[in-house]
Amino acid sequence: MTADGEAGLSQPSPARRLLARLRDVMAGSGAAQVLLDKIVQCIAAEMGAEVCSCYVLRAGDVLELFSTIGLNPAAVHRTRLRLGEGLVGMAAAQARPVATTDAASHPAFAHRPETGEDVFKSLLGVPILRGGEVRGVLVIQNSERRLYTEEEVEVLQTVAMVVAEVVARSDRGVADEAPPLTVESANLPMRLEGVALSPGIADGQAVLHRPRLTMRQMVSDEPSTEHRRLDAAIRSMHRSIDELLARSEASGSSESQDILEAYRMFAEDRGWISRIREAINSGLSAEAAVQKVQEWLEIRRASLSDPYLAERFQDFEDLANHLLLHLSGRGSVAASATLPTNIILVARSLGPAELMDYGLERVRAIVLETGTANSHVAIIARALGIPVIGRCPRALRLIEPLDPIIVDGDHGQVFVRPSDDAREHIENAMIQRAARQRIAQDLADQPSDTRDGVHVSLNLNAGLLAELHHLPNVGAEGVGLYRTEIPFMVRPSFPGVSEQTEMYGRVLANAEGLPVTFRTLDVGGDKSLPYLHFGNETNPLLGWRAIRIGIDHPAMLRTQLRALLRAAAGRPVRIMFPMIADLQEFAFARSLLDRERDTLGIDPATVSVGAMLEVPSILWSLPALLSNVDFVAVGTNDLIQYVFAADRGNAKVAPRYDPLSPTFLEVLNGIVEQCTAAGVEVSVCGEMAGRPLDALALLGLGYRSLSMTAWSIGPVKALVRSIVMSEVSAYVQQLRRGGGRGLRESLRGYALDRGIPL
Ligand code: PEP
Ligand code: MG
Repeated sequence: MTADGEAGLSQPSPARRLLARLRDVMAGSGAAQVLLDKIVQCIAAEMGAEVCSCYVLRAGDVLELFSTIGLNPAAVHRTRLRLGEGLVGMAAAQARPVATTDAASHPAFAHRPETGEDVFKSLLGVPILRGGEVRGVLVIQNSERRLYTEEEVEVLQTVAMVVAEVVARSDRGVADEAPPLTVESANLPMRLEGVALSPGIADGQAVLHRPRLTMRQMVSDEPSTEHRRLDAAIRSMHRSIDELLARSEASGSSESQDILEAYRMFAEDRGWISRIREAINSGLSAEAAVQKVQEWLEIRRASLSDPYLAERFQDFEDLANHLLLHLSGRGSVAASATLPTNIILVARSLGPAELMDYGLERVRAIVLETGTANSHVAIIARALGIPVIGRCPRALRLIEPLDPIIVDGDHGQVFVRPSDDAREHIENAMIQRAARQRIAQDLADQPSDTRDGVHVSLNLNAGLLAELHHLPNVGAEGVGLYRTEIPFMVRPSFPGVSEQTEMYGRVLANAEGLPVTFRTLDVGGDKSLPYLHFGNETNPLLGWRAIRIGIDHPAMLRTQLRALLRAAAGRPVRIMFPMIADLQEFAFARSLLDRERDTLGIDPATVSVGAMLEVPSILWSLPALLSNVDFVAVGTNDLIQYVFAADRGNAKVAPRYDPLSPTFLEVLNGIVEQCTAAGVEVSVCGEMAGRPLDALALLGLGYRSLSMTAWSIGPVKALVRSIVMSEVSAYVQQLRRGGGRGLRESLRGYALDRGIPL
């Protein structure tokens, strides 16, 4: 085997021979139908099959027999199967090859007498994939009962990629009754819905990130040339990631650096690259080989239940995009002078390197067809204040390059070619947002006191070093919640004491003497770690997470506590434990902290210890807990989830339960009453604290400390400064006691009547 993996190239492989023939077919002229007819003939002849058929997925999830050699020609365009119906439907629904030695006796078999298929026993069907979507199924059949070899399956899959190109071309012609793509979007205004992954509103022009469409050619007869092109592209990609690393080092954002380091590691992964090489050896061009591996990754990812593994597969898919760019010679997209300066980046998925490549100063917002809140690109975008909408299906198909776009990252909406009405509506929202931000900046130095002189402590929620840059600008008193898990999630292994000490030291240095409340590791649920085995949990949100993991792995928790204490180096430090469900859990966690503190000889007076109130059970032990803590923080995001048994991430159930419902206000009122009576500091650090109307209710109940994202501090401070606390308290208590359902509306009316900014 040579250095670039050209094993056994003296004899052309069956795939290469077939691909070479297909290349000649495709070079000829003809409509897509003619081309497909020639292709199926060619495949049947080369693979020794009596039948070769191509089924194309049509609107309404119907697979239509589009071309065949060996079946009854009269069945073409007549025989149809639903997705999942029969063996062909099964290959499409599962996006996997299906092989059988006796089709008729297979439980999934669906008989279609008009095809004359009864005489054929064995069948091999592979999905035709393009852009991560199934576009059809390619089938071969034989009358003898035969077992198709792994190599034959591989060959048919490779050929299916070429067929995918023809089917895609025919999308604009014969194969699809739907009008062509450019007409599909027809310049009409459109509103697309997705999931808000990073908040904010932005306006700009669409730039489509889909390097896969810049395919030079699918088939190559000279693998050695393709290997050389791949090598050059890999080198160029490494160089560009190194440059980005150098830039991120200079900008001092350590998380971006961690993420890029991990990314570079993936880029050097041998398994990934050798898969691409194998595909080149089978006769594909370097681009087609990368795309083939990308399709495989996409399909595999869809079937993964482990969110961490799925994210890593996503990293490889993003890398494949990056590699395709380098193969096309475009290397850095940012180099293109023709790109607008107000980019709304539309992509199937996007890696952090690619985002940075476009130039962070030019990217106004991101729209992704995939994506989760924990994807690297979402984490970075949130830290930088770039709005992101994820899981926005068909965005790449529906949006044209340079389309005017407005992204509403607060509500998960994308306005494509916005109508005058939509533009007016959103522009108003943007003006109001900008005004609120100006007010926030103007208020940064002003005290957060009500008109009757009651002080309200406003603090920042953060989880990335980059977010601490906001601290002096927004006028927060400190960091009310520092989520420590993000650096753990982007690293390939558990960071040791010295690494963690350095991390927390940087947080404290960036906070410039303002108090920081560190929350110990809160992983599990939807946040898993590569180096921790969570098993297959049926209910991860009710599963092994947060302090439960710390209790089962005390060494891990102790490492973090030691690092936090060392980083503080005798300065005051605040540490709290998440998801405390009973007194024993808190007592155990606290005993570990006390032990570490004593070992390091640290003055107990400098260490404040707290608990998050987010699991309802602890509320029945609150008096005892309060006598053992220095402070508590109410995590309303989880508390609402568990009080109402409604998954906070599930859009179907989460919005049904209002934090201002009589039930939840009772819960919140009980907490603040008990804390006040016990003289224990209490704050709210869930999302509701940052929403002005909800914050008004919290203040009325008696909460005097709130912690929220940077963008919320200004609006909440403006609200605080406009109210008379004694009046608000009286009104909220009256509403609470009344127990009516329309609490939110009553409170809104109260605020509007008094000119309280919401
Ligand atoms: C909460 O649950 O309200 C909270 C602040 O913690 P997180 O959102 O990180 O779970
Ligand atoms: Mg929580």
